Amino acid sequence: MGEYVNFTLKGKFVNKYNSGYPLISKEAIMNLNEATEEGTIIRLLDEKNKFIAKGYFGKQNKGFGWVLSRNENEQIDQRFFVNKLRDAINYRELLFKSRDTNAFRIVNGEGDGLGGLTIDYFDGYYLINWYSKGIYRFREYIINALKELVEFKAIYQKKRFDVSGKYIEEDDFVAGERGTFPIIVKENGVNFAVYLNEGAMVGIFLDQRDVRKRIRDAYAEGKSVLNTFSYTGAFSVFAAVGGSVKTTSVDLANRSLNKTIEQFSLNGLDYESQDIIVEDVFHYFKYAVKKKLTFDLVILDPPSFARSKKIVFSAEKDYKDLLKEAIAITKDEGIIVASTNTSSFNMKKFKSFIDQAFKEVNRKYQLIEEFSLPKDFKTIKEFPEGDYLKVVFIKNLS
Ligand code: SAH
Repeated sequence: MGEYVNFTLKGKFVNKYNSGYPLISKEAIMNLNEATEEGTIIRLLDEKNKFIAKGYFGKQNKGFGWVLSRNENEQIDQRFFVNKLRDAINYRELLFKSRDTNAFRIVNGEGDGLGGLTIDYFDGYYLINWYSKGIYRFREYIINALKELVEFKAIYQKKRFDVSGKYIEEDDFVAGERGTFPIIVKENGVNFAVYLNEGAMVGIFLDQRDVRKRIRDAYAEGKSVLNTFSYTGAFSVFAAVGGSVKTTSVDLANRSLNKTIEQFSLNGLDYESQDIIVEDVFHYFKYAVKKKLTFDLVILDPPSFARSKKIVFSAEKDYKDLLKEAIAITKDEGIIVASTNTSSFNMKKFKSFIDQAFKEVNRKYQLIEEFSLPKDFKTIKEFPEGDYLKVVFIKNLS
C-alpha cells in the first residue's frame, strides 16, 4: 500500500523509538538519505528488519521528519488525520467553551502526534503553520479534516519550510471568507488585534497566556513595569489592566510603536500615559542606569537569537548578562520575570544562568514561581525539547 522508504535504526536507538521518541533524526539512522522526497512515508526498522514506527520525511531545523504511528497496519490517510485532529480538538474542549478566551492552539505538533504542524484558533479563524515541505504534502488531508470537524470563518496558513523555520512571504489565505484584519480576539477578557495575513508574526504569542494572566492578577497593581522585547506590548497591556502605575515597553522594531498603541487603545487604556520606546534594549539599559531609573517589575522576553546593528544576542550565551543588566535597574524586593523560548537548554540550565547573574553582581534572590507551556501547547514526555518555554519570577533581594 502506497510508497515508502525503509530507514534502519542504529541498535542503540531502537529502545528510544520503541518508547515513543517522535523525531526522525540523522544520528539514529544508518541509511538516512537526505535526498528522499519530502512527504515520503518512512518505515523505521531495527537491524533485523522488525517494524518499529512509521512517519514522514520532512526537513526541518530539528530533524528529518516525524513519527506518525507505531502501528504497522495503520494507513496515513484521510481518516488518520481526521482522528488526530478530532482528538486534538477534544483535548481543547474547555478552551472552546471559554467565554473570555477565544485565541489558543488546537494542534501542537508532536504533542498531538503531528510533528511539523501547528494549528491556532482565533475566534473562528484557523491558522495552520507548516514546518516542512514534507508535512505540506499532506495538506489536502489536513485541511479537509479541519473542514470536516469544525465550523470556521476562514483558514489561513504560514509556510515555514526554510530549514531554519523561516516564513515564506505570500498570500496566506486558504479557505472560507477572507478576513478583514485586524480581527479582535480575547484572552482572559483582554482584547488583542490579530493580523493573519501580514507575515509570520500575527500580533500575539499564545504560549504566554498563563504568564500574562499571572502578571495582571498578582504582580502589577501599583507597580512600575518595564517590558523589554515588548513586540505588541502584550505583557504591558496585561500589567496596565492589572493596575500598574506605568508601563514602559521597549522594542527595536518600528512596527512595535503602532502595534502597542493599538493594543492599549483596544482595551480602553490611554497609551499616552504609558512609555512606548523604539530602541535597542541594550541601549535602553544604559540610558536607564544613567538616568537612575528603576522598576518594580522587569520583564525579559528576548528571542532565542537576535542580531541588531551592533549586538548579536544568543539566549544560550548571553542570557546571564541580560539578567545582570536587568538586576541593575530593578528595585530592591522588585520582581524580574525571566522568560526564554529556547529549546537548546532546559530549566535547570536556565536557573544556573540566573544564579550566576546574581552571584556576579553580588546580590541575593528568591525564585518565586515558574511557568512552562500552557495546556493547549500539549507536549509529550518522550520529547522534552518540545517543552521549550521557561519562565521564572525572581525576587531581587538586597
Ligand atoms: N515579549 C513579546 C514577544 C517578543 S518577540 C510578547 O510577549 O509579545 C521578540 C521581540 O524582540 C521582537 O519584537 C523584536 O523586534 C525584538 N528585539 C529583538 N532584538 C531586540 C533588541 N536588541 N532590542 C529590542 N528589541 C529587540
